[in-house]
Amino acid sequence: MCVMLLLGGFGFEFTPRHHDLNTERNSEYQDSAKQSKPTSTETTEEKPADQEPEEEKRSTIRWIDFNASLEMLKKTNRAHKTLIEKGITDIGTCELLAFVALRNGNKFNAKADTKNLDKLMAELKKGDRTNIDKYADNKYFNYYVESFHAVLDGIICKDTAAVTGFHPVAKGFWHTGHDDFGNSRSYGFKRKHLGHDLYGGVGAPIVAVEGGTITELGWNRYGGWRVGIRSEDTKRYYYYAHLKKDKPFPAHLELGQKVTAGDVIGFLGNTGYSTKPNKNMSGRPHLHFGMQIILDPSQEDGNGEIWIDVYAICRFLSGHKSTVVKDPETNEWERKI
Ligand SMILES: [Zn+2]
Repeated sequence: MCVMLLLGGFGFEFTPRHHDLNTERNSEYQDSAKQSKPTSTETTEEKPADQEPEEEKRSTIRWIDFNASLEMLKKTNRAHKTLIEKGITDIGTCELLAFVALRNGNKFNAKADTKNLDKLMAELKKGDRTNIDKYADNKYFNYYVESFHAVLDGIICKDTAAVTGFHPVAKGFWHTGHDDFGNSRSYGFKRKHLGHDLYGGVGAPIVAVEGGTITELGWNRYGGWRVGIRSEDTKRYYYYAHLKKDKPFPAHLELGQKVTAGDVIGFLGNTGYSTKPNKNMSGRPHLHFGMQIILDPSQEDGNGEIWIDVYAICRFLSGHKSTVVKDPETNEWERKI
């Protein structure tokens, strides 16, 4: 049962899911058990064509180690644009990344990766598809293709190669951080850090990396004030946490609302680590940014959750930031239209 609370002191309403304060759902951190293996399981049962479809679609993908390097994200995205110009529309950023991942065993190494990609691109430009087409039925290649699409389709348009995602911190606001995915955390219970911390100034506008529907809004004992946004295709859940004490969100924001990539959805702060709402943690103010991949309902909550290392993605998006302006009436940062 959801309970509507009015927080008089903060001037907005929020509807917490009842388990938010009791479980780790949407916490900054999750059980380390799920960290261990990149897996793809195969479906072995063939069904007759007239059989009723299963109620829940179940993905064969159970975990994704997103290891693509910044350099390869940039290079495959540029190569994607080149292929479109050549009239090749079925090989894009994700297929090229999958090709590189297949060759390097998903351990991205700048030198070998560039060589492999350059060789493939030289062949493709000459109309020779042999070296990529031979993997069409390769289960590992297809696992990588599906995984990269699940992660990147909200950030890079698969049809045009355009970057459609925005960096989570608005343009003109400083931030810093390092690849801290998987680091150890101990508040509440021992666990791994399943996101990326972007340190910055309190109040810096935080924007939606991808558009979607606000499915979580309010206080969580780990993430403090936080917003959760589910992508339109439902495959990605974005988690923005530790938002600003007293003023975590724009006044108009509410559960169920649809937002567009680049819209202001919060303000950087330092809240969390408390069962009592609106408490600051110790340490430096930062945004915790997380991305969860949800390919079937069993992956929404609990041990089936798949969280992605978004560090390289954030760096990739640092060249694509949302410009914000202050509304003279409300004195709030808003997206510049
Ligand atoms: Zn964090």
